[in-house]
Amino acid sequence: MSQNPASKKAESVEQDQFLTVLSREEALARFETALFPRAIPYEPRQLADALGRALSEDIAAPIDVPPFDRSNVDGFAVRSADLASASEAAPVRLKLNDEVIACGVAPQRPVLSGTGTPIATGGPLPRGADAIVMVEHTQPAGARAIEVRRAASPGQFVASAGSDIARGEALLRAGTVIGSREIGMLAASGIAEVRVTRKPRVAVISTGDELVQPGSALRPAAIYDTNGAIVTAAVNENGGAARFLGAIPDDEAALEAAMRQALAENDMLVLSGGTSKGAGDVSHRIIARLGSPGIIAHGVALKPGKPLCLAVCDGKPVIILPGFPTSAMFTFHDMIVPVLRRMASLAPRSDAKVAAKVPVRIASELGRTEFVMVSLIEGADGLIAYPSGKGSGAITSFAQADGFLKIDALADQMQAGTEAEVTLFTPHVRVPDLVIIGSHCTGLDLVTAPLAHAGLMVRSIAVGSLGGLAAARRGECDLAPIHLFDDKSETYNTPFLAEGLELVSGWRRMQGIVFRKGDLRFEGKTAQDAARAALADYACIMVNRNQGAGTRILIDRLLGEARPDGYWNQPRSHNAVAAAVAQHRADWGMTIAPVAHASGLGFIPLAEEHYDFALVKMRKQRPAVQAFLDALASEEGRAALTKAGFRPA
Ligand code: AMP
Ligand code: MG
Repeated sequence: MSQNPASKKAESVEQDQFLTVLSREEALARFETALFPRAIPYEPRQLADALGRALSEDIAAPIDVPPFDRSNVDGFAVRSADLASASEAAPVRLKLNDEVIACGVAPQRPVLSGTGTPIATGGPLPRGADAIVMVEHTQPAGARAIEVRRAASPGQFVASAGSDIARGEALLRAGTVIGSREIGMLAASGIAEVRVTRKPRVAVISTGDELVQPGSALRPAAIYDTNGAIVTAAVNENGGAARFLGAIPDDEAALEAAMRQALAENDMLVLSGGTSKGAGDVSHRIIARLGSPGIIAHGVALKPGKPLCLAVCDGKPVIILPGFPTSAMFTFHDMIVPVLRRMASLAPRSDAKVAAKVPVRIASELGRTEFVMVSLIEGADGLIAYPSGKGSGAITSFAQADGFLKIDALADQMQAGTEAEVTLFTPHVRVPDLVIIGSHCTGLDLVTAPLAHAGLMVRSIAVGSLGGLAAARRGECDLAPIHLFDDKSETYNTPFLAEGLELVSGWRRMQGIVFRKGDLRFEGKTAQDAARAALADYACIMVNRNQGAGTRILIDRLLGEARPDGYWNQPRSHNAVAAAVAQHRADWGMTIAPVAHASGLGFIPLAEEHYDFALVKMRKQRPAVQAFLDALASEEGRAALTKAGFRPA
């Protein structure tokens, strides 16, 4: 073992970071113990502004509702005893009193025996009366009299004082979240202002030199601040009042000043970024100076989300979320939302869950509770949950996913075929009408656009051509877009079809050499000449494609035995190749024409790739599949594809 002091130091710094990784449950328990019970601040609120807030006091009804006995119908206030013998055969005649009781008018005259007073719905019952007869059950009998042909029971059609809400009755309990029903009860009781839990003020800070706010131009090597927007929205969704304070560079003094001010003015502070190893533990050092007890957990056995840091500084929660947006979002919802909602006096979130079968094996890290985003589709016998994560750095997985499943810390995988519980992101599952699983292409969006506009829900899951074929064979999708080149037969796609699948021709994508415009090694040349010029220039760097990609076969043919600089850089997508060239990390590579053109790059066409669809025959008659086939064959669809640089087959 090395006794080199420098390496020992490096080791201890590293260990410092995640000295004790706590289980998710243990970390949450310690965090809550440090924060609760606590006094929950409240504030007065006008009824109209109290919606969604939690009452912080019990409310007793200050009056009876209704405040007086009143009529429930249009009719006549009567003495029920007068009508005891009334029937069709023997109607009773009542003399009308010289008064009409409208709503909002206090009666002046009593109802004496043998009389009745006209009364409107909502009118107060006059003295002497104990029942109402409906106008429909009476007949005029001369100028100021009526005939009644049925008996009236005492209290008939009368709502008595306090029958709705009785004075002194507990109207609403502390903790009740005020909705329109509660607002109605309070308004009926004459209450204009209530005491509600004050929304916890939550300061949100992003950290990182690389962060730029959306709306500003992106400088080289910078990225847009995603967490600031996510956390701000998630705080507001869960009863907090978020104050986004922007992105602070990785500078200890600047960050400390911002954190101190944020804590002085708010109830809670949520940072993101700067918590992974190597970033330097700037914010952790600062937390230690901000108040006691300080850090409660740094390193939680969650995936994504291990670098999560939980602290309490003089009673206020301070949290550092991991930098990757997906990790930030999961840890926030799993670990911070429960605490925030408690501070806002809101009940824990009640997430909707469904059972679904997992069609593929999902590997998982032993010792960490793992969250896996899934897309739901309808299988032959029940829901199927397709893992749709692209790694913790990806944000778009959220848009495609319907929810997530949890893999226990003690499991190292979830086996294919497992019946899993999926927590939904939204309260209802909406099963897609059309499911497309396979290789992604921007042309796909053009063809499915009319379906989406017609209200059909299209779900496309990008898993590559081979993954798509496997899903199609299992009958999990309607269509699998593929672009697989068979070396032996030198044909695309058809040789890869299995039983139960048929090929639907899609479009052709011109592949060729991509380069920066004006580069004379490539400009105006054929692909072969351009490759020769590139190989002749020792300083020229290429970008390759992954083994198995159809494009890779073209590259290898072009290069022969040559292995130029950059050959081992093998990204998995057409876009990554264009980005490498556009950003000068490479001088040339091979991509498809629409991608090269969208990046403003030069392009030398070489060979067409066939992007087709393996159609699951069994599902061909489904309306959404037919709509897709129609859109694919339509004039509009073909025109849109052509305009984007594809060649419809
Ligand atoms: P860090 O924990 O600061 O090392 O960040 C880990 C990764 O998350 C890096 O790739 C950061 O660029 C990224 N990241 C950090 N903060 C944000 C943010 N607010 N929005 C988007 N990405 C971020
Ligand atoms: Mg950072």
